[in-house]
Amino acid sequence: MILPGETIGILGGGQLGRMLAMAAAQLGYRCHIFAPERESVAAEVAAAFTCAEWHDAAAMARFADQCAVITFEFENVPVAPLLALPKGRLAPNTSGLEVAQDRLAEKRFVEDLGGRPAPYAPVDTTAELQAAIAAIGAPGILKTRREGYDGKGQWRIAAAEVAPASEEGGLIYEGLVRFAAEFSVILARDPAGAVRFWDSPQNVHEGGILASSTLPPPPAVAEQVEPARRLARAVAEALDHVGVLTLEFFATQDGPVFNEMAPRVHNSGHWTIEGAVTSQFANHIRAICGLPLGETATLATPLTMRNLLGQDVADPAALFADPAAQVHLYGKADIRKGRKMGHVTRLG
Ligand code: AMP
Repeated sequence: MILPGETIGILGGGQLGRMLAMAAAQLGYRCHIFAPERESVAAEVAAAFTCAEWHDAAAMARFADQCAVITFEFENVPVAPLLALPKGRLAPNTSGLEVAQDRLAEKRFVEDLGGRPAPYAPVDTTAELQAAIAAIGAPGILKTRREGYDGKGQWRIAAAEVAPASEEGGLIYEGLVRFAAEFSVILARDPAGAVRFWDSPQNVHEGGILASSTLPPPPAVAEQVEPARRLARAVAEALDHVGVLTLEFFATQDGPVFNEMAPRVHNSGHWTIEGAVTSQFANHIRAICGLPLGETATLATPLTMRNLLGQDVADPAALFADPAAQVHLYGKADIRKGRKMGHVTRLG
């Protein structure tokens, strides 16, 4: 067990690291952020900051020496430098990262556990794309296998188009799923294998970016949470995952269709800060430190979490007009279109 007073290392310097560090501080831990970018909204609320490249082995070793446990807030941290960390220092382990970093590996992994993704085909050339469209049908979505997030690295394909030439290689074509709603399953798993789930919100995406998460979800989602949870639990067990794990689903007429997973805390769980007995951030810290998990029950519904993107924060004072809204700003100086700047949660 890693007790309060010890230092938790966090790989990645964004808002998820910031909220993890704030939850850790509440529990009496110090956090040390490791990130390649000089500007880190996580480092601003942490006790220490190492700004170094992921492959800087000396910096990684010094960082590891100073941390009782190391976790990550970003699923595209390269795995190779993490293999040199002292055994058992990283939680969760690298297996979730390896699976989630490649959309193809992720879909195959989930299928092996009985999950159902959208119909898909790996695509490396224009000829393969045309074959995939012929087999799966259009419309569909062409995605980069690696590094895509928030709708980046994705192209809607209306008919038998050619692949974007510059992006050939390392792509995946997915049939467009006709869904009634989208939802996520978020769980925390402790080192002994105990699992707790939060309630599953309905998630609405706009332009590939999460716009809002709402509880309670409509019946179309509520009816599909049980099978989705079974799959999420199986994924957590297969990975021997410790900490928070998220799976995203489409609720369809034929049951839940797996979209993607993240071996970490998730935007669609931000409502848990005010809306659940224990937040996803606090339970992630508890899990990786070997403390008992906190209760995950929802405190009150209806509840909505809305993301604040780019210009939504241009007038910060306006965000405080609703006295019942819980405002979270991530402290990002640079307002860019579609950039996640904060979120607002409203209960009741
Ligand atoms: P992703 O980054 O893959 O999670 O995609 C972001 C969003 O795009 C999803 O949450 C959906 O709203 C939409 N999307 C992605 N893939 C599909 C698909 N195969 N069918 C329908 N919608 C999709």
